Formats: sequence, structure tokens, C-alpha cells
Amino acid sequence: MTNEIILSNRLKNIMDFLPAGSFFADIGSDHAYLPIAVCQHDQSAKAIAGELNEGPYRSALEHVTTQRLTDQIKVIKGDGLEVIQFEPVKQVVIAGMGGGLICSILEQGKHLLKDVDRLILQPNVNSEYIREWLLNTDYQLVAERILAEEGHIYEILVADIAVTKARYEYSDKEILFGPYLIKEKNNVFKQKWQRERKNYRRIIEQMLRAKEPDLIKINQFKLKEKWIEEVLKDD
Ligand code: SAM
Repeated sequence: MTNEIILSNRLKNIMDFLPAGSFFADIGSDHAYLPIAVCQHDQSAKAIAGELNEGPYRSALEHVTTQRLTDQIKVIKGDGLEVIQFEPVKQVVIAGMGGGLICSILEQGKHLLKDVDRLILQPNVNSEYIREWLLNTDYQLVAERILAEEGHIYEILVADIAVTKARYEYSDKEILFGPYLIKEKNNVFKQKWQRERKNYRRIIEQMLRAKEPDLIKINQFKLKEKWIEEVLKDD
């Protein structure tokens, strides 16, 4: 029986960045909710749902089959970008993982990105790793979004293949906060960094209580705490 998939706000926001008629891969697709919702709304869209693990792979396969979308969505079991090896997808989505894991998936499979003109990345933490990784590639950050859902705050980073070969630079602050997000500085952004400031304070206090405090680490955290204060106050 087919049913319209009700997407989380997070996945709906990711969907906004896919063009009509997209051919995309959702790496780490889990239940394949995103490819199903996209293909239900757009009959010209096609997708690869990639999964490393057997359980989520089976779940994706079952959902795609019961939604009668096997013509539009191919579910492939595999590690990271290897699932697009023979699939000339135009967009790649990697969502719901840490920034470190997303970067290692991209780094390992970067030779497979030759047809891909857009990356849509949604790290749960450490989005700064992704901004840094992008700097050494032919992709350029073109949009960022931050949103809150059920007590969590999510960032979405969109990078397109650069039109020119000109290198672009970001300051360390832009890498941490996001060049677009820091400009917009909306309420969710402020909420996120107020939370982070408290986290950094707690960590610094804990580290200072250690028998032999790691002063290098402490100073790194203090610098970030200072940046957060500056960013939150200069409105
Ligand atoms: N992308 C979905 C979302 O945003 O709702 C699911 C996120 S879920 C937390 C992460 C999924 O990524 C899991 O299903 C896991 O099995 C899969 N995964 C982790 N590492 C992977 C890899 N190297 N290649 C493919 N899938 C991976």
C-alpha cells in the first residue's frame, strides 16, 4: 500500500535544495524517507538510496518497494560514495551524521564525484570540518540554513561545483560559525551559540580542575568562547 511520507522539518529543508528533475544519491539513507518523499512529489526525479548497514538497507528496500517507487529509486548496499560508482548522479545528500564522518565519506569517495554538481550536507555536529574540507575542493559553499526541531539544532550546507577556479578563503570565525549563517544571525543561530558558549564554559571549568590542566587545549576553548561572545554581542 502506498502512503505519502511525512518528512521531518529537517529533511523537508534538505529537499528544498534539490532541483526539479533531480538525480541524486542519499548516502546513509536509512529508511529512504528522503528519496521516497522527493520521488513522490516529483515523478521526473530519480534517486540512489545508499546504505552501509544491513538493517537500514533492508528497511530502505522494503519502503521503496511498498511505495512502488522501484522505477525511480535504486537501493544499493555499500560504503559511502561507492554506490554512485556506476550511477551518474548530479546531487549528493549526506545527512544526519557527524561532520567528521561526512568528511571521511567525501574524502574517501571524492574521485567518484565527477558528475556531481551539488552537495547537500547536514551534519549533526562539527559543521566546521565540512567547511574546511570544501576549501580544498572544486565545490563552493552557496547556501547554509540552520533550523531547530524537537530540541535539536541542525545545519544544512549546500556546495556547488565552482564556476571559476578562483580559490576562496574564509576566516577561522566563518569556518566555525558559517559564512552565511553568521551574516544572517537568526534566532536559531543565537540559540545554538548560547548553548555552545555554556558548553565551552563547563568544559573549561572542568579542565581547569584537572591535576595537570592542558593549557593549550584550555586556551583553544577560551578563544572559541571569546569568538562566541563577540558574535553574539555585535548585532
Ligand atoms: N540520512 C538519514 C537522515 O538524515 O535521516 C539517516 C541518518 S542515520 C542517523 C545514519 C545512517 O547512515 C545510518 O542508517 C547508517 O547505517 C548509515 N551510514 C553510516 N555510515 C555510512 C557509510 N559509510 N556509508 C553509507 N551509509 C552509512
